[in-house]
Amino acid sequence: MSRRSGFTNSPLATRSIISPNKTSGRDAILGITPHVTAGTGTAAGTAEWLARPTTKASANYVIGGDGAVVLGVDEKDRSWCTSSTANDKNAITIEVCNTVAAHPWPVSDKALDTLVDLCTDICRRNNIAALKFIRDDKSLAGKWSEQNLTLHRWFANKACPGDYLISLYPAICKEVNSRLAGNAPKQISKDNPAPVVRPVLRNGSNGGAVKELQAKLNAHGASPALSVDGGFGPLTEAAVRAFQTAKGLLVDGVVGSQTWAALDKAPQAVTPPPAPTPAPEQPASEEFINADEAIAFWMSVGVIGSPAYWQNKVKEVPWLGKLLNAQAEYARMK
Ligand SMILES: [Zn+2]
Repeated sequence: MSRRSGFTNSPLATRSIISPNKTSGRDAILGITPHVTAGTGTAAGTAEWLARPTTKASANYVIGGDGAVVLGVDEKDRSWCTSSTANDKNAITIEVCNTVAAHPWPVSDKALDTLVDLCTDICRRNNIAALKFIRDDKSLAGKWSEQNLTLHRWFANKACPGDYLISLYPAICKEVNSRLAGNAPKQISKDNPAPVVRPVLRNGSNGGAVKELQAKLNAHGASPALSVDGGFGPLTEAAVRAFQTAKGLLVDGVVGSQTWAALDKAPQAVTPPPAPTPAPEQPASEEFINADEAIAFWMSVGVIGSPAYWQNKVKEVPWLGKLLNAQAEYARMK
């Protein structure tokens, strides 16, 4: 039996809404790329949208907030999902609907538990021995034997699959691998802290979220440092705008999902401006003991320039610099 004819689909999918946005055939299934939809739709609604030719995107599976699974592209075919042909040739792609369409892009507990079920099933049917996640590191792309849970954000300027799901990848892999080893399934959502969803903050906002914002702005080097008082006033707004400018974000002074996401990243060490390169310590020419003697020499060998010209040169530049300049000028004019 050829490898191609060995491809199967997951029995967890209760519906098929096959998208035309795909490429027939694929390479061996070596890993899984979960995505988030950045929307709160259902699995079927999302799959229908992905099946429109104008969407020009697809996924092998879609998981809804209720845990429903819809097949969008047969596993034997390559979905158009991860902004990387190479990735999608080797990965099964899964779109997971969000519960809140904002950073950190949370998903429901039912969707999370279904994602674990589906990942386990994909590994079993495709002889993937273990699901592996080391870290969110693009240099691991294509190194399927090291890390076969891959991330859309490696291949496009996107948050996908979002910080919430990524924070759960170690737990997802642990549970999938436990099941692959024959252990009884557990629902990882049971031990899972509720995702923190940040409110949109602007001038006039107040409370605990503003305190968190002010502390994070300070950690990112707000200057002057803000007092962490929970009141979003002009100073906080100025710090937000400075931060947005530094990060290349839309500069509107409003803290939405993009700004929160940037604030949640580790602050970069403030890089001091490079120290001016000191002039190399040139030993003074042994031929001259002072500027006057050097000037006399340049004049004597016929370098163009009046004594006044050279006197000004002496004032303009310190002795070593003047000598070097004079030497260069001499070479040029000679
Ligand atoms: Zn994605």
